[in-house]
Formats: sequence, structure tokens, C-alpha cells
Amino acid sequence: MSRAYNFSAGPAALPEEVLRQAQAELLEWGGARASVMEVSHRGKAFIAMAEEAERDLRELLSVPANYKILFLQGGATQHFAQLPMNFAQRGQAVDYVLTGDWSEKAAKEARAWADVRIAASSSNSNYDRIPARETWQLSADAAYVHITPNETIRGVEFHAVPDVGNVPLIGDVSSTILSRPLDVSRYAVLYAGAQKNIGPSGLVVMLVRDDLLDRCPGNIAKIFNYAEHAAQGSMLNTPNTWGWYLAGLVFKWVKAQGGVAAMAQRNRAKAELLYDYIDGSAYYRNPVEHSARSWMNVPFTLPSEELDARFLKESEAAGLLALKGHRAVGGMRASIYNAMPLEGVQALVDFMRDFAQRNG
Ligand code: PMP
Repeated sequence: MSRAYNFSAGPAALPEEVLRQAQAELLEWGGARASVMEVSHRGKAFIAMAEEAERDLRELLSVPANYKILFLQGGATQHFAQLPMNFAQRGQAVDYVLTGDWSEKAAKEARAWADVRIAASSSNSNYDRIPARETWQLSADAAYVHITPNETIRGVEFHAVPDVGNVPLIGDVSSTILSRPLDVSRYAVLYAGAQKNIGPSGLVVMLVRDDLLDRCPGNIAKIFNYAEHAAQGSMLNTPNTWGWYLAGLVFKWVKAQGGVAAMAQRNRAKAELLYDYIDGSAYYRNPVEHSARSWMNVPFTLPSEELDARFLKESEAAGLLALKGHRAVGGMRASIYNAMPLEGVQALVDFMRDFAQRNG
């Protein structure tokens, strides 16, 4: 058996070149005479690698000098709870824009600490769009505004950064980071679970503007305090060394592809190929408003749910993995992150066309 095209939403496909390099140096990394997983995170070799990974990410996203880059743990979900503890006072207003399941979860977790206000939501239309900016009700006294630039489950993406005035904007970019250029300066904080476009799960990358770190209160446990993590170069305790290493390899890979501008061109072409086919077919359907369709996650339904099981079984046999939609929406979902080549999307479209003809 050989590697198949993997459409998993996350943990997701990694570039084959990266996996091969990790395989080649799994037993002996550099001159360490040991695996990268077996050496001290405080040793020279690891620190040099960690700093290089950070520099590469800074270069890839043109991260301004007044932002720290943190390599954290806990998954994006832990940071749903930790962000308000650091950036809002207890009980202070915070604004959340709900565009799908992940922003909903982020808002729910923040309630334990802050006065969460829903500034806008598209839940009434089943999260099929981004609520128009004119309809948002932002609070003047909010500590920050939180958005989810790409909703992984519904496949809804902001294609422009909303203007929220002087209130710090926080974005959960778990499923869109590195897929296209990102104007970091429009956000105060960006964070991403690694397991889509960066590397393995168990690593969270955060970009945080220096003045936000001044807000981190001294009376929370150090391990929850971002300013402490920043002060110690993300080595307050043992970091996810394997995740950091793999992230570094992925950053090099993205650079070799031509950076995020080149990724954006490829990702746009992949998404257009799939959406154009879906829209042109009477068989498949994507419910998301055209202007908010995600380049990374493409949900689609078949004419009846009875066909789902057959579609999944046959697609897997054809070498197209993990197309089952999230249980919240049903149907199918193709996640087409950076590591998915255009040929993989073409193979999916060819399969879909053939399946529709046979089961029409
Ligand atoms: N935010 C988004 C946009 C996600 O897609 C996910 C996971 N798929 C999460 C948060 C949660 O991430 P984790 O499982 O790393 O906590």
C-alpha cells in the first residue's frame, strides 16, 4: 500500500518531503548522535534549531519586531480559556464574533473569566456566512474582539480583516495560518493549533504584540501567563520539542515553495477547482455564501444521506482519505491544506464526477 491523498481536517496531511527528512534524521539528528526527541531543550543544538524556526516563521509572515512568537502547548482549546485570563480583567467585557463551532467554543470557554458579549453571529443562517461588519455591535469598553478567521467545520473564512478600531483584535488562525499572506499588524494576537498547516498536534504557535503582554496579570499561575512564557523564550518548562522541530521543517518547506504568496496562489487554484465543480454539478452542494467560502475546508453534501456511506467507502478505496464531514454538519468535507497538491484535488473531482454518474 502507498500513501494516499489525505483530506483530514486535523491532524492533517504533512508535506511528504518533511516526513522523509524527519524519517532520515529520526535516529541521529545533526551531530547529536541521538534523536531530536532525546536531547535537552536547553542544549545549544536544540536552541539553535528553535531560534531558526522562529526566524523562519517571522520571515514567512513578515511578523513585525514588536510581536513575540511563542511555541506553546495545550491545543487551541486551552488558549480559548487562557486568552481572557491574560488579556482581560476579571469580569471585563470581551467581544466575540460567532461564525461557527470554533468561535462558539472560544466564547463559551471565555465565560469562566470575562463578560462575554456576542458582537455578531451568523448562527441564525446555520453559519453559512460572515456577518456584515455594519451589523456588529462592538462594546467600547471591551478588552478585545475575538474572531475565527477560518471555521474548520463549516468551511467559512474571512477574506479580509475586519476593522475594529483601536480595540485589540485576536484571531484563531488554526486552520488558515500559512495558507496565504497575513497582515499580522492588523491583529494584537494570533494563535494556531499546529495540526493543520504547521506540524503535529500538541503545539500551539502564538504571535502576540508586546503591549498586550503588559496586561498579563501577576496573580495567575505562571504556566498560564503568556508574559512569563515570552520572557523565557517559550521554555518556561519543557516545550513540545518534537512539534517545534517538525514545525521548523514545515516552515523551511513553505519557504522552498515560494512562501505564503505562492501557497496562496496554489490554495486558491485548488479551492476554485473544487468549488467550480461542485457549483456546476446538480449532484453536490456547498451551502456557504460565495464570498465567505474557505480555501482550506470545503464541506459538501450529496443528494441524499443514504449515499454518504457508499461515497466514503468508494473514495477511500480510490485512495482519497478522511472525507467524512464533521458530525455537526454531516455530508462530506475535503480539507485541502498546504500539503495537499493540486493533483489530489483533481483526483477528488474526478472521483466525484464518476461517482455522480454511477449513482445519479
Ligand atoms: N480552532 C479551530 C479553528 C480548529 O479548527 C480547532 C481544531 N480543529 C481548534 C480550534 C481546536 O484545536 P485543538 O484541538 O488543538 O484544541
